[in-house]
Amino acid sequence: MSSETVLPACFILYEMTVRTRYAPSPTGEPHLGNMRTALFSWLLARHYGGRFFLRIEDTDQARYIESGIEAQMEALRWLGLTWDEGPDVGGPYAPYTQSKRLKIYREHADRLVAEDHAYLCYCSPERLDGVRKAQQVRKEPPRYDRHCRGLSPEERRAVEAEGTSPVVRFKTPLDGETVTHDVLRGSVTFQNETLDDFVLLKSDGYPTYHLAAQVDDHLMETTHVLRGEEWLPSAPRHFLVYQAFDWEPPAFAHLSRILGPDRSKLSKRHGAHAALEYREQGYLPDAVVNFLALLGWSLDDHTEIIDRDMLIRHFDLDRVLTNPAVFNAEKLVWMNGVYIREMPDQRLADEAAPFLERHLARPIDRELFMRIIPLVKERIKLLSEIVDMADFFFTNGDLKYDVETLLGKRYASDPAAALKALEAATERLEAADGWEHGRLEAAVRPLAEEFGVKTGELFGVLRVAVTGKTATPPLFETMEVLGHKRTLERLRSAIKRLRGETGAK
Ligand code: GLU
Repeated sequence: MSSETVLPACFILYEMTVRTRYAPSPTGEPHLGNMRTALFSWLLARHYGGRFFLRIEDTDQARYIESGIEAQMEALRWLGLTWDEGPDVGGPYAPYTQSKRLKIYREHADRLVAEDHAYLCYCSPERLDGVRKAQQVRKEPPRYDRHCRGLSPEERRAVEAEGTSPVVRFKTPLDGETVTHDVLRGSVTFQNETLDDFVLLKSDGYPTYHLAAQVDDHLMETTHVLRGEEWLPSAPRHFLVYQAFDWEPPAFAHLSRILGPDRSKLSKRHGAHAALEYREQGYLPDAVVNFLALLGWSLDDHTEIIDRDMLIRHFDLDRVLTNPAVFNAEKLVWMNGVYIREMPDQRLADEAAPFLERHLARPIDRELFMRIIPLVKERIKLLSEIVDMADFFFTNGDLKYDVETLLGKRYASDPAAALKALEAATERLEAADGWEHGRLEAAVRPLAEEFGVKTGELFGVLRVAVTGKTATPPLFETMEVLGHKRTLERLRSAIKRLRGETGAK
């Protein structure tokens, strides 16, 4: 990285309005890599008090998916990456959907043709295929052979008479070099002879990315284009387009790839899913934002928990890295747990309740839920874990567990002893002086010694009897919240089951 390319940008940024954009192609579900690009663009705009806009790049009709635009917006909304201009909210450079700007691209393509920076190409797909195959045989890189670049006006008239609709191709200089600049990576020089005459406008009237994105970034006054590293090889084409129009290119920053921990391409195998699946799984947007920010950026060499305000305050391109970022799914889970623990109880209850309500298929008693929150807050890392941790507070009737689970290891071969312990504990709890967890524990704990078992073994049986599970919030606090009546009912029901199913007396 050369300091020349970084420093002036940083100084100048405070003087100008930073305009960044997220420009998705609606071809599928957005994944976390997309959201990382969106986040970095958003953070840069927010840091400099600039504008962040959303542009829909729907020019590839074959890959277009109807739900793609909404999925992108929903993912941005979920993560709180608000846009100031976009297809839904409008803005000074509307429309923000490329399929509604075809006239603009056509005019710009025409201008390049008129100024001899582009030409019409009538080659059929069959001909192009033949050219490609011949190049393969000769072990040459596949590229257009510039057949139409030199058509005479008569030749052009002849093919036009056949009714062939042309594409518009860029007239790449045959020699010389093109220098591209990247804020993160410095300058790279490309020999023009290695570049091809790429298509700007397709025969269906839709532009390619090479034309549309440059025209829009210029017209929409984008100051910084943050995009994936996969666009780096196309950068010389884009610089050539800017040059041909005689426009100043924006600052480009190509963000590094995101790899799995084994350094292969990130996939589901590494625990990476579509962005909105993280919502389903109970991740918090703040945690995901924090996690994504650290995929290629750092505050310093050690800080991991950085909230949104702090990100906005400190984010800048000078700490964006170019080496691949490694996705660590466990770190995201850990981070989510940290954010859950830091949430106010009421907010956590609001966020977590829908998970339980979906599971139970009915609304839950929110007052009761607020009493449960402090018991589970330290124990869940994902909101979805609330279901396993707390559903038994809301179920009525018999719990589902089998007698082996109730007996546990200690009592597996001695159900009679378990029965005695359960009966004694139930009696003590019935007689407890006030339904408060300290008192409940004081009433039951001495029984372990009396029966010659470990407290954990005794409490284990009670836990399954009262909750149906082996891992729960602390036993006596759970009993306190569950209440006198339901706790005793569940204990009695366990006693009955033990008698009935094991014959213990
Ligand atoms: N539509 C392009 C994509 O989804 C955007 C690249 C860019 O940000 O310029 O990859």
